[in-house]
Amino acid sequence: SIMSHFFFENFRFLILCWIALGLITFIYLIYSKKKAPYGRHIKKNRGILIDNSLGWFIMELPALIIMPVLSLQNDNNPFVLLIAFFWFLHYFNRSIIFPLRINTKKKRIPIFIVLSAFTFNIVNGLFNGYHIYLNVPETNLFEFNIVIGALVFFVGMLINITSDNKLISLRKEKMGYKIPQGKMFKYVSCPNYLGEIIEWLGFFMIAPSLASLSFFLWTSFNLIPRAINHHKWYNRKFKNYPKNRKAIFPFII
Ligand code: NDP
Repeated sequence: SIMSHFFFENFRFLILCWIALGLITFIYLIYSKKKAPYGRHIKKNRGILIDNSLGWFIMELPALIIMPVLSLQNDNNPFVLLIAFFWFLHYFNRSIIFPLRINTKKKRIPIFIVLSAFTFNIVNGLFNGYHIYLNVPETNLFEFNIVIGALVFFVGMLINITSDNKLISLRKEKMGYKIPQGKMFKYVSCPNYLGEIIEWLGFFMIAPSLASLSFFLWTSFNLIPRAINHHKWYNRKFKNYPKNRKAIFPFII
């Protein structure tokens, strides 16, 4: 069709526009101090709300499906299988396991947040899936960048999941928010976001491309401002909040 022809012809250009949009979003979020209104930053009058867990399931589902389905059209290639597997693992946790585990069952999320994340995941899934489908040849799985990238990916995933686990268990003890302690929380307020950024850096190292770069950048553009907002929020809310803790990058920000 005309649409898919346009998509193929202008693939690189479209991703560059996508990265530029991410950068604009980042600069806007930093300078306007606007907070994505979900979780602790939710506001009244944010339009229609839906169940929080259902919202997470819906908005992450396109990511779980689109990228693996597209990339596996590039068949008979163990490297492609590996990449799709890493992606699937992350999004299986994010869209299925995570929503079932969070203790925010009675909380609600604005449908506008769900729709924007849903759209993001479609675009991101299309770019990354098509790139792998079109451009990734058979590759020796023991290339240096793949081994190191896989290591970085799993370290990131470990940090992300153990930190999310900590937050989930805090909510089990008591409704509302507590000061998280221990592990990476000694250094930063949002180690789950740090882990997520490390994961997609690892993914970029495994399969470097404009598509995987755009995902790594978008994740950073999203999560760095949000971590800064969480960090300020913690410091306002808790007078005894640890003074030497940073927002997201240990000893830096
Ligand atoms: P948060 O850290 O804001 O919250 C995670 C969960 O823990 C929520 O259920 C939250 O409840 C609860 N929680 C957080 N802090 C506390 C506390 N101090 N005490 C008690 N409970 C707490 O993460 P997000 O919801 O923003 O994100 C969830 C996951 O999704 C993360 O792993 C993140 O990395 C990932 N993500 C990835 C993005 C990307 O661009 N790749 C974008 C956004 C998220 P409540 O909701 O009530 O605040």
